[in-house]
Amino acid sequence: MNKILHLITLALLTANGAVLAEETLPLKSVNKANEVIDAALAAHGGEENLTNLNSLVQESTLVTYATNQSRLPNPPWDKGKQSSTNAIDFEEGVFFNRTAGSGGGFEFDAATVINEEDSWQLDYRAGTAAPISEPDLNTTAGPFIRVTPALLMKQLQGRRQQSNWLGIADFDGRPHDVITLVMEVGPALALYIDQESHMLTRMERVLPPFGQVEYRFEDYTMVDGVAFNQSFKLLLNGDDNLDISNARPLVNVPVEQYTRVASNLEVIDAVVPDDFNLQELDEGVFLVGGNGAYGLFVEMQDHLVAIGGTQGAADRLKEVRKHIPDKPVRYGVLTHHHSDHVPASADYAKEGATIITFEPNQELVRAAAGDDSVKLAFVEDRMTLGDGERTIELYDIGPTPHAEQMLIVYLPEEGIIFEADHFPQPRTGPLPPAVSTTLAFVAALEELDLEYSKVVGAHSSRVGTPADVSSVVLKKPATQSAGAL
Ligand SMILES: [Zn+2]
Repeated sequence: MNKILHLITLALLTANGAVLAEETLPLKSVNKANEVIDAALAAHGGEENLTNLNSLVQESTLVTYATNQSRLPNPPWDKGKQSSTNAIDFEEGVFFNRTAGSGGGFEFDAATVINEEDSWQLDYRAGTAAPISEPDLNTTAGPFIRVTPALLMKQLQGRRQQSNWLGIADFDGRPHDVITLVMEVGPALALYIDQESHMLTRMERVLPPFGQVEYRFEDYTMVDGVAFNQSFKLLLNGDDNLDISNARPLVNVPVEQYTRVASNLEVIDAVVPDDFNLQELDEGVFLVGGNGAYGLFVEMQDHLVAIGGTQGAADRLKEVRKHIPDKPVRYGVLTHHHSDHVPASADYAKEGATIITFEPNQELVRAAAGDDSVKLAFVEDRMTLGDGERTIELYDIGPTPHAEQMLIVYLPEEGIIFEADHFPQPRTGPLPPAVSTTLAFVAALEELDLEYSKVVGAHSSRVGTPADVSSVVLKKPATQSAGAL
């Protein structure tokens, strides 16, 4: 954002050294934005064609880069391949997205249908259809609109009075006007419009905690009088994150077929909010969390061991302290190096705890802790934490398709296993068929020969059993290959 603020200042100072009293800076910025928008709308097909663009079907292939989500803690990041179909109809208020592919040891083929009270979350691989109780067209269609210049132009048409001109910036050696677009949901977007061609070539938004997201639109072609980009690139803090290549879009075709739920899908319970909650799995053993981020806390004689690194550890600890008010956290155990499994490092560091991880992750964990002098201990293969009364065993089950090194936690006395990202357990409904990473987890459990009665994970409040674990291995995916759409 600094760059943009700098641009505003520079542009306004140099271009408008003598601002007329009646044309205030905000007014000038809005007027200039409108000039830029008029030229851009004309270049992308014209007001009329864009107004008449009511429905759109776009098939694409995607290459994803698993930034901070790869098997190793450092680049080059693992690539994944996906195929997707997006369909939108503004008059009908319908949006459809289906994405299939694999990455991180997961195979998937899933869709979202937004169609007022007939909205669904479909999992073709699991063979299930879950109603969406609170469908939100703007939020769900946002990612598709943001990668589709023609739809961004429609947004500019409707929301031009909220746009500001930020200034002029060079991109690819060409001067661009930079204007803002504030959509119904999400942070403001900065659109770079080429001063000569008036085409949208680049867009930026700042999305904490990820950082700067940059969109690049390339290879425009005209379809039914409207400009569509044939390829697209997304960069995250300057690094490749996503490459999309688009098939020729279908303009103003009916999208009704996409709203139908295939009859072979089993209708399951609606997806409901994951409210913050605490469960005592055994005496002094707490599974705490909500909103897809959970951690395990184990009470020892004179301290606590906090397990799992997802965000929200401070809130989880606060909840545990209602039960165990006076014991410090001595160890914070991280399962693996992925960006959503290290944020708790900062909370554990503040507690003065020793963070347990793998040696190759140390730099990353220090950064996540925001404290170079944080105490670290490294697991090699396995480690035992004990105080004579209670034992906690840590095992590296890596390499798995998800991560080179992956810690699972085992409480032998209580028969409890805590894992992350290897045994997905939706909070309700049937467990999905095993993905590659689940098979690796199951093989590791067999090899370690751990006796357990409960298996819990970093992303769910559901408490699984050994029978659950064996059942997912036997389940066949409802779709044969994840790539087939
Ligand atoms: Zn992970």
